[in-house]
Amino acid sequence: MRYLIISDIHANLEALDAVLAAASGYDHTLVLGDFVGYGADPNAVIDRVLAIPSATFIRGNHDKVGAGLEDTDGFNYLARHAISWTAHELTQEHRTWLAELAQGPMIVDPMVEICHGAPFDEDVYIFDDLDAMRALRASERPLCLFGHTHVPAAFIFDSQLRTVDALRGARVDISVNDQARYLVNCGAVGQPRDGDPRAAFGILDTETRSLALMRVEYDVAAAQAKIIAAGLPDVLAQRLAVGR
Ligand code: ZN
Repeated sequence: MRYLIISDIHANLEALDAVLAAASGYDHTLVLGDFVGYGADPNAVIDRVLAIPSATFIRGNHDKVGAGLEDTDGFNYLARHAISWTAHELTQEHRTWLAELAQGPMIVDPMVEICHGAPFDEDVYIFDDLDAMRALRASERPLCLFGHTHVPAAFIFDSQLRTVDALRGARVDISVNDQARYLVNCGAVGQPRDGDPRAAFGILDTETRSLALMRVEYDVAAAQAKIIAAGLPDVLAQRLAVGR
């Protein structure tokens, strides 16, 4: 099975379309949440993912708030402003779809499980080794894929915890050894925060046990213009150009 792995689209239609155009040869798509929030195309993004022929979806924190399942208490000013705008823009049909999204973690197959934040809590950010160890202990499959931080990361536990450095460049290949456990973030489609503005995604082949972390350029200017035109905070447009 070959999976396309995408997360944190954040209503960025230009970035999503670039990823869908660049990715090829996959059988099934895994979307790890945060379909909406920050960007200017929440409805169009949901329509686009619903058109993916074979896909599994879990929710993110912005999806919960956008759908009205949670309030904005945990959000900073920018996120709060954007999700209030989003909630107002969403069609009733899309709001219902977001509200009914499955909660992670979700086991996908004998090798893979997915979550938005962490396998022990969908809203927790995995940044450091302590978070990673806790997540690896909680995960029920050798490869746990996560999102939420918008930063590509790969933790490997065999006899000890290691991180894969230099997750930069247009493509980084990780081979998934069957003696170890893996915790991997393939990065964000719609709002990367690792200093690389290109949209991020992953391709996993479970037969060859190879995972490729990929980047693709997209029309940042078009996404920025829509954010400005929508009256969303300028900084949400500016950050897309620098990947922060
Ligand atoms: Zn996010």
